[in-house]
Amino acid sequence: MIYDAVVVGSGFSAIATVGNLVELLPETASIAVVGDDPGFGRGTAYRTELYLHRLNVPAGRMSLFPDRPDAFVEWLRERKRPLGGGDFASRQDYGLYLRDSLAALLRSRKRRCRVDFIKAKASGCVERYGAALGFLLDNGGEIAGRSIVLCLGVGNAKLPFDQSQLSADAQSHIIENPWRLSWLRRVGRTDTVCILGSGLTMIDQVLALFAHGFMGKVIVLSRRGLVPLNHISHPQPAAEIDVGALPTRMSEILHALRRESRNAGDWRRVMDGLRPKTQALWLRLPDSERRRFLRHALPWWNIHRHRVAPDVFRRFESMMQSGQVSVRAGYLRNVKDAEALILHYRPRGGGVAASIQADWIVNCTGMERAGIAHSPLLQEMQHKGLVEADPLHLGLIVDAQSRIPTPIGSKVALYAVGALTAGQFWEITAVPDIRIQARKVAQAIADSVRSDHP
Ligand SMILES: Cc1cc2nc3c(=O)[nH]c(=O)nc-3n(C[C@H](O)[C@H](O)[C@H](O)COP(=O)(O)OP(=O)(O)OC[C@H]3O[C@@H](n4cnc5c(N)ncnc54)[C@H](O)[C@@H]3O)c2cc1C
Repeated sequence: MIYDAVVVGSGFSAIATVGNLVELLPETASIAVVGDDPGFGRGTAYRTELYLHRLNVPAGRMSLFPDRPDAFVEWLRERKRPLGGGDFASRQDYGLYLRDSLAALLRSRKRRCRVDFIKAKASGCVERYGAALGFLLDNGGEIAGRSIVLCLGVGNAKLPFDQSQLSADAQSHIIENPWRLSWLRRVGRTDTVCILGSGLTMIDQVLALFAHGFMGKVIVLSRRGLVPLNHISHPQPAAEIDVGALPTRMSEILHALRRESRNAGDWRRVMDGLRPKTQALWLRLPDSERRRFLRHALPWWNIHRHRVAPDVFRRFESMMQSGQVSVRAGYLRNVKDAEALILHYRPRGGGVAASIQADWIVNCTGMERAGIAHSPLLQEMQHKGLVEADPLHLGLIVDAQSRIPTPIGSKVALYAVGALTAGQFWEITAVPDIRIQARKVAQAIADSVRSDHP
């Protein structure tokens, strides 16, 4: 069967696209969703088994649909969670909210289009008659659609060292993918854990460790040793930022934003004012300045932009003060195994080589930018000339409508939603932005389906 729309992926981007398609498509239309995630719609972010893992965006901005901004807060209220729009809810709850929202949408539409959920990974693709694109599935099946939406997210970052020379025992103490939380049960209460990477994933894992009764030490190593900053409990209004009046050289932009921050009193006001306009700012920048941003400003952008809930930050700070957690800045050179794992690194800013002795190494170097390399499917599509990496290798080339340019003569409409489109939009990794993009893509598909099914 050839579907009107095939959505590939099973995280937030997929659920937001499907939710909008169900609302917009005529009842004669058909959608297939191909995803390998057991909790459809949750992806890595909202599938956590730990209630203590919190959203880093206030609940009032996390509704699935931008035109119903209170939907998530209302869902929380119905479940007797006493949280307001400015509070930071549990990511586990958010995953349940997504599941409930989609279920409610499918139930409420008696005369809705057909939606088939297929639990599989799309492992390859085949072109069909120029008017549809087919995907080979890892369960042996095949599926084709006239419009395709790629919602593949980002891949997990690989370990930043080669572990093949280490003994099997040492390798079993290296946690490559910390999102499989079963590793927490294997850690001894007084062990030393070295976490590579100092971003939000690191904070999540530290919280999870101590929630499991861990009493040992955590040593964090990252190139700059920068940890995410905090949201505040009573944020002041966002500053008014006129993106059109900002310069287009990165050094001058940063200078202007620092000046705005001094005037605003709290830099968060400037970040909050900039946030909804970041896409517009990115679009104005020439490639050379985008590269400069990625090379020099990205780590600072990340800690100011991707902030943690106020009480999570306080807890993390108190662990640092008590010495349970320490953060070091340096470049990892190699890992050896002796009695324990020994990480040799060069401290940032020079100085003599240093080392860390640990029982465990946990890879929290974050999510890989959604380049093509993390996905065999995208690699094959690239090989067939169906997708192309954007010049900064952040994701795929898409136009301002998130549409992937297809070869001349092809009638298939190919779109990407989420981090794969970061080269075009940059600020497209979080719910407030993805939900708008998903709506626009669904609208474009609905318009073309309506012209086919008048
Ligand atoms: C730990 C964490 C916390 C976060 N917290 C927040 C937050 O509080 N607020 C916020 O707004 N954002 C947050 N984010 C950002 C988050 O990435 C987005 O909100 C959103 O979840 C991205 O969803 P996605 O569908 O684009 O990607 P993903 O969630 O990565 O989903 C992609 C899915 O596609 C599947 N897939 C990949 N390839 C194939 C294939 N070939 N065939 C079939 N399926 C495939 C994958 O298995 C995966 O399930 C967080 C991210 C992380 C990692």
